[in-house]
Amino acid sequence: MECVFCDIVAGRARASIVCEDATTMAFVDRRQPSWPHGGHILVVPKPHVEFLYDLPDELSAAVMRTVVRVSGSLRTTVAAEGISVWSSNGPGADQEVPHVHLHVMARYAEDGVLRIYRDRPHYPSPDELDALAGLLSRPIR
Ligand SMILES: [Zn+2]
Repeated sequence: MECVFCDIVAGRARASIVCEDATTMAFVDRRQPSWPHGGHILVVPKPHVEFLYDLPDELSAAVMRTVVRVSGSLRTTVAAEGISVWSSNGPGADQEVPHVHLHVMARYAEDGVLRIYRDRPHYPSPDELDALAGLLSRPIR
């Protein structure tokens, strides 16, 4: 199995490592939209897990601890005016590398980098939103 993030974790591929612990690693994404300002960092679990929803609870918590640490570093060291955090999972979300990763990006006013909604989104009724919440509240594990 070829996985560039597993190669980075194992030291077989080069990356600029921000921090790591026993189960997670953070490194600099090769794409830097606000360069030379800001920072676009990737946080990964060291074990190969393809999708966010397959992460065991303990590893999920470890990944989020690293996301919080990196967010704080971006806020203080590159004067980020905001932080965006996201993860794309599956082909419908355009997941580019089949190894869970969270993007942590320094944001600046009017940087134009991320827009979740291209157009005005739908605003379903409260009852419709309650129905969706009810579906999603069912245990999955
Ligand atoms: Zn991997």
